[in-house]
Amino acid sequence: RPARRPVELDQIVVDVVRQARSLADGVQLGIAAFVPVVVQGDADRLRQLLLILVENALRYTPAGGKVTVGLHAETDEALLSVADTGIGIAPDDLPRIFDRFYRADPARSRVAGGSGLGLAIAKWIAEAHDGRIEVTSQLGVGSTFTIVLPQVGATATSLESDGIYAQAGEAGGRRDVD
Ligand code: ADP
Repeated sequence: RPARRPVELDQIVVDVVRQARSLADGVQLGIAAFVPVVVQGDADRLRQLLLILVENALRYTPAGGKVTVGLHAETDEALLSVADTGIGIAPDDLPRIFDRFYRADPARSRVAGGSGLGLAIAKWIAEAHDGRIEVTSQLGVGSTFTIVLPQVGATATSLESDGIYAQAGEAGGRRDVD
């Protein structure tokens, strides 16, 4: 099981987008909505999870397109989304993309490579955090992957007492990393 410590998801969004910038190569990579959110979990695993989705989005989006990361909070869930304007996924492939080694159509990928393991790992990490991954996609239009994680909410008071929640609050607002 992954570690369970308070993790500032907003910090992870900033880190991953910064890290992925060098892979963007003609694709506009940015952060849209952005709020401070703390979840319980393993920061390294959650960073890996977001990086898999961002790398995929860049891989399957032709130059001139856009990849947008968003972070929203609901009452008891954190929603981390990666939206792209890329090639999209056919309805027949959608249920299978989280299977190990499944690749919809390697020929359509902008960049060669990819093991077909990324989304299987991403799904495992989300579920190990009591969360899930959802996807909507339209061929030729783009895809949106959303990671849904249980939020600290109920324990916010105890976190506040050791300063973690307050710290996250200071990082609020919209932020563009460009
Ligand atoms: P891969 O290493 O092939 O990218 P993944 O497990 O990460 O393996 O993804 C599985 C398949 O899902 C990919 O081969 C691709 O067909 C499809 N896919 C994943 N992300 C996207 C995306 N953002 N846009 C279009 N297709 C995608």
